[in-house]
Amino acid sequence: MTNPIPSDKALVPFVSVDHMMKLVHHIGIEPMLIGLADYIEADFKRWELFDKTPRVASHSDVGVIELMPTSDGEAYGFKYVNGHPKNTKEGLQTVTAFGLLADVDTGYPVLLTEMTILTALRTAATSAMVAKHLAPKSADTMAMIGNGAQSEFQSLAMKALCGLKTVRLWDSDPKATEKAARNLEGLGLNVVPCASAEDSMEGAQIITTCTADKQYATILTDNMVGEGVHINAIGGDCPGKTELAPAILHRSDIFVEYPEQTRIEGEIQQLDNDHPVTEFWQVLTGKAKGRTDDRQITLFDSVGFAIEDFSALRFVRDHIQKAQAYVDLDLLADPDDPRDLFGMVQRAKPD
Ligand code: NAD
Repeated sequence: MTNPIPSDKALVPFVSVDHMMKLVHHIGIEPMLIGLADYIEADFKRWELFDKTPRVASHSDVGVIELMPTSDGEAYGFKYVNGHPKNTKEGLQTVTAFGLLADVDTGYPVLLTEMTILTALRTAATSAMVAKHLAPKSADTMAMIGNGAQSEFQSLAMKALCGLKTVRLWDSDPKATEKAARNLEGLGLNVVPCASAEDSMEGAQIITTCTADKQYATILTDNMVGEGVHINAIGGDCPGKTELAPAILHRSDIFVEYPEQTRIEGEIQQLDNDHPVTEFWQVLTGKAKGRTDDRQITLFDSVGFAIEDFSALRFVRDHIQKAQAYVDLDLLADPDDPRDLFGMVQRAKPD
């Protein structure tokens, strides 16, 4: 693996939250979303060569902690991520994350980075990359249901990649909608706060559901979804946590990241295990069809897969040097004689 950062192999570039924000502003948020989408699309196109496994999840009554590993044979990456819908009431975030990229040849880490912001960016970039291929070509209006931490990123990615012009906001907490509307002001979108979920869907060709609740919720009922729309379902991403009425799934052509993980965590956990779904990477490589007619409902049953984080880690590794957005971290023991770890410890003994 070529590492663009020339540093002592024992020092690991570390990207803090401050560095990540510096990187976002150095590149620009929309160019960064486009860049991330390019990296993710490139990795989806070489899907078959990755090591893949459903993420390793540790559930509790209040949330989940997950590890998401993958490798393309040259680099290995993983993300630590949690999901705790109750957290916002305690002044904490629902989702936090950090991640690591390593060189398969030596096993040495080459990047350690915050991934809370990066997850929001990569999830939005993935949503928009998929919508670019599946949403109606004329789509310019999106209903954004759930106006929490992910929502502005989702809206801007749809603007940058799909030409979205109008976003119609709805959240059961009006404060969340106010916050999202305020944050999106002046960023080139026509922002419309709405009075209900039904209202938000008026004239929308893309419907994004991004709510957080640890239950089988029904954010969309069957009668709310008309023909020809693209649904980008983000929030149902855990066993027992879904957003769509099952009848919608039966009317939709369903596209997923990695079926083995989505059948456990996605909207399709509500369906029989043999219900047909399309792996989205196959649309990109021409092995499967995407949208085939104007009346079709396409559904991206997004749960977030390790390859998207791997792509995001590669993107960060490739861009932090120019932005000077990292510090070297003394993370790996580096004795002069590799076998003299004990001697190194002894020599560090205070007098
Ligand atoms: P958040 O807690 O910041 O925001 C969630 C919002 O949903 C809140 O504003 C809440 O008021 C709203 N909400 C809850 N129930 C609602 C309902 N019935 N109707 C309307 N609004 C409702 O969470 P977040 O960080 O924005 O994440 C949202 C969801 O997306 C979470 O479930 C998270 O696990 C999931 N997520 C998925 C991916 C992915 O790759 N698919 C990535 C990141 C987050």
